[in-house]
Amino acid sequence: MYQIPLPEKYETMDSDAAIRQIRTRKEQIGSTLVILGHHYQRDEIIQFADFTGDSLKLSQIAAQQKEAEYIVFCGVHFMAESADILTSAKQKVILPDLTAGCSMADMAEIDQVEECWHYLEKQISGPNQLIPVTYVNSSAAIKAFCGRRSGMCCTSSNCRAIFEAVWQANPQAKILFLPDEHLGRNTAYRMGIPLEQMALWDPFEPGGGIPAGSFSRKRVILWKGYCSVHQEFTVEQIQKARAAEPQVKVIVHPECCFEVAQAADFVGSTDTIIKTIRAAEPGSSWVVGTEINLVNRLAGEMAAKNVKVRSLSGTACLCETMYRINLPHLCWVLDQIAEHIENPAQVPLVNRIVVEETIKKDARLALQRMLDITAAAQAVKPA
Ligand code: SF4
Repeated sequence: MYQIPLPEKYETMDSDAAIRQIRTRKEQIGSTLVILGHHYQRDEIIQFADFTGDSLKLSQIAAQQKEAEYIVFCGVHFMAESADILTSAKQKVILPDLTAGCSMADMAEIDQVEECWHYLEKQISGPNQLIPVTYVNSSAAIKAFCGRRSGMCCTSSNCRAIFEAVWQANPQAKILFLPDEHLGRNTAYRMGIPLEQMALWDPFEPGGGIPAGSFSRKRVILWKGYCSVHQEFTVEQIQKARAAEPQVKVIVHPECCFEVAQAADFVGSTDTIIKTIRAAEPGSSWVVGTEINLVNRLAGEMAAKNVKVRSLSGTACLCETMYRINLPHLCWVLDQIAEHIENPAQVPLVNRIVVEETIKKDARLALQRMLDITAAAQAVKPA
């Protein structure tokens, strides 16, 4: 998306001045403002977040803030879209930098997915046999696509519960999983689905690059997409960490590739990683395969408890698009909100994310199905 250049005063603003101005604006705008900070944001942004969390948790929190008319989402584009889908019509979601996208979400364009679906429908017969499931790290259009076709969303925490629900409803169903091949593969494999029963759909190959006669044996069709941050982690890094420190524990995100997930001691969502590290025994040592801002924050937090935490990678695994949200952008949008409140006719809101109504309705359906399934799965979990 196009981001208008920031006025020069923000480009040249030093950090202290930006921090002072953000504090002033937060106070001035008061309870009609809520700032959400994704776990992968820089510390300079997290210090201003009223809530931190993963993408879905933050959208749900936004929806609960009935007083908050202005929701500044310090994250990436698909997250701000989800917040707009889940919040009320009077709430306005603002992304401080419109170029903060997600390379994974961009790997599944709606036209490509429609084309894939038409092809698969011809290959796979039987009612309701093909169910689309999309990771929340996808555009609103993809979520709506799933909503329209009895499909649903999932997160890295509830992906297994979603797969189970699909197969409980129809053991013959085949899942088209978008847009992260690794989360889909790692989850299905851990549920006992062998790799031979999964196929990888490459949107740039005719027929997805999958032999036409092979669909009857497949249970999961994975979209060829990945996270540019989590794909950086390798099995060699795990071996090196263990060679240097045999007692070290390795925990990685399920967006890492299959081989890395297999080699790690633990695989878990961002939320699981945080909970596991916070519950770690004093004296233990951990290497973590996820985004560096979160790892560094956990390392700082756990140092006082004598738990050693470091990144699995020797080089910084940074989400570059998340990193685009910085103090000048946050300061600019807050200034604009304050000026808009004072003079709505003259000062338009900048960087508002608005999902078209028809897309919103179907995307909400996909998100709601996920929330219902997750709630039902949690209700039957043994205490
Ligand atoms: S960490 Fe990966 S999946 Fe998350 S926003 Fe960045 S590129 Fe997208």
